Amino acid sequence: MNSRVQKLRKQFAGNKVDAILVTQSVNRRYLSGFDGSAGFLVISGRKAVLATDFRYTEQAVAEAPDFEILRIANSVDSWFPGLLAEMNIKSLGFEAGDITFQFHRQLNKALRKKRLAVKLVPVNGLIEGVRAVKEPGEIDLLKKSAALTDAAYETVVGHIKPGVTEKQLAWELEKSLRESGSQALPFEIIVASGPRAALPHAKPTDRVIEDGDSVVIDMGAKYQGYASDLTRTVCAGTADDMFKNVYNTVLKAQKTAMTVIHQDISGKAADGSAREVIQKAGYGEAFGHSLGHGVGLAEHELPRLGSNSDDVLTDGMVFTVEPGIYISGWGGVRIEDTVVMESGKARPITRAIKAKY
Ligand code: ZN
Ligand code: ZN
Repeated sequence: MNSRVQKLRKQFAGNKVDAILVTQSVNRRYLSGFDGSAGFLVISGRKAVLATDFRYTEQAVAEAPDFEILRIANSVDSWFPGLLAEMNIKSLGFEAGDITFQFHRQLNKALRKKRLAVKLVPVNGLIEGVRAVKEPGEIDLLKKSAALTDAAYETVVGHIKPGVTEKQLAWELEKSLRESGSQALPFEIIVASGPRAALPHAKPTDRVIEDGDSVVIDMGAKYQGYASDLTRTVCAGTADDMFKNVYNTVLKAQKTAMTVIHQDISGKAADGSAREVIQKAGYGEAFGHSLGHGVGLAEHELPRLGSNSDDVLTDGMVFTVEPGIYISGWGGVRIEDTVVMESGKARPITRAIKAKY
């Protein structure tokens, strides 16, 4: 059996379950290799079953060699209680953060109908915790994804000038990413200029970029399922003292965090190191989001780097370091790199040039 499933099984006893039902699509793919859009994994200590419908059975056989494939019909009644009885499951963990209230009711009802005494136990973040520490092969894919992002940014950065619109830049970036081999983008590219740059997650509009505007570009590629995440901020035209001061404060905050991050530091301490730099410069209130997040098959995953995160950063984790300052009516600056933790140090895997002011 594959090592990912083995790592998950080690968590069963501590969570008082003897099997787990996996419904979340990224987790399903991570554990089984199956990339179809519908299906369930039922993993016990000895068996691993992938239940999916007619549309996907052939794909499932090819993609998930470690799993027994069970072809199922639409209704839960027709397969769920029978499979649990056959696998002798008494206590089944389910992904509480993923399934709907209605689906939970259907599962319970199906079990009651067959008079099966199976306890459904909510679990959270079990597989996400395993996913947070990447295997060498995953790190290679994340580096390729990051390289696609860097290259696309660098083809377009020269076009960030007064007179172009946010949408024009976003489309050029998207085309460049897709033409160089990215799959459908993991998230919509952000191009936010002038006062709109004060909105951390602004969608690109028809706004024409003006001289002196800060322009925040946040983008990512997807390569064999793996995301990347990069933000750069540039000033279109001439940068004034305000821009220079804000930009250099954010840059210093990012550099400080990169230096401070070490093996076993908490997500909270990592966040605090960058926040302190921004606070000392007088912009504490303007850094309203957390420092970073894990990146992998999902563009946002564990670990969390934030003021209330107990996550511990360890070798093999891949995450972003992205401080920002946002000032209503003026604009904003964010600088984000995706880094891998290696030999106890954070090493950037996104390497796109950073403007100097
Ligand atoms: Zn981003
Ligand atoms: Zn990010």
